[in-house]
Amino acid sequence: MRTVTTLDELRTARFALKGTVGLVPTMGFLHEGHLSLIRQAKAECEHVVVSIFVNPTQFGPSEDLSKYPRDLERDLSLIEPLGVDFVWTPTAEGMYPTGYQTWVEVEALTHPLEGAKRPGHFKGVTTVVAKLFNGVQPHKAYFGQKDAQQAAVIRQMTRDLNFPLEVVVCPIVREADGLAMSSRNKYLEGAHRQAALVLFRALSAAKDLYETGGRDAEKIRAKMREVIEAEPLAQLQYVSCANYDTLDELDVVQGKTLLSMAVFIGKTRLIDNFVLG
Ligand code: AMP
Repeated sequence: MRTVTTLDELRTARFALKGTVGLVPTMGFLHEGHLSLIRQAKAECEHVVVSIFVNPTQFGPSEDLSKYPRDLERDLSLIEPLGVDFVWTPTAEGMYPTGYQTWVEVEALTHPLEGAKRPGHFKGVTTVVAKLFNGVQPHKAYFGQKDAQQAAVIRQMTRDLNFPLEVVVCPIVREADGLAMSSRNKYLEGAHRQAALVLFRALSAAKDLYETGGRDAEKIRAKMREVIEAEPLAQLQYVSCANYDTLDELDVVQGKTLLSMAVFIGKTRLIDNFVLG
């Protein structure tokens, strides 16, 4: 399987592909969640391109860019059996050369939730994803429901900027005990790994409340807070019970609803979500 790095190499490899192309953008340190996106792309497209790029512009100054886990050799060995056409591994200098000054920003959808806690994060995400779309020119691009707000923001950007492609959002892949797979789970050991289950427990408790007729959104948020606050190793950042499309917080649960949260387990920041309705 080929890897390409420069834009010239990418263009040559891309335009040798005839037929539909699916793109799976990742930051590497792959797990089953990423592989499920690649498998879905393989099932739906004649060709599949995976990008691996730890995008510096989506990390805040106090975030974990330098510590973000990387293992390209392992990633390539996981991708190899899946029949991907090639892997694009751009460099930070190639993506953002000296003098770089163009950014893509989505407005209202990026203001709550992750956007409120990680200023500038989505500006980095939408800019890099626009560049990946322009580089690969895929027919379909695959993202995970794990990053629910990111998926919504990318759908919005794709519509607003008329990118001629379909955004496909794939279900969250979880460990057997419910923990959503994430490259950052590597940092969870012993008691912290156990404590990380609190996100799934809190979402499940909220879903139970909903399934027994609970529609008061504040009660649903309070239930999630209560479960998380009972876990001594967890530090809650936010819980949300919001409209699935607009991400506006709800008073009364109605229609498609996103339950989501961000929680620190020790120094590791985890996010998770369930969709109701
Ligand atoms: P990342 O490498 O963390 O930027 O993730 C790359 C893509 O994989 C994003 O679209 C994520 O939403 C998706 N992804 C990450 N974890 C999971 C998971 N557990 N299940 C499904 N998709 C995931």
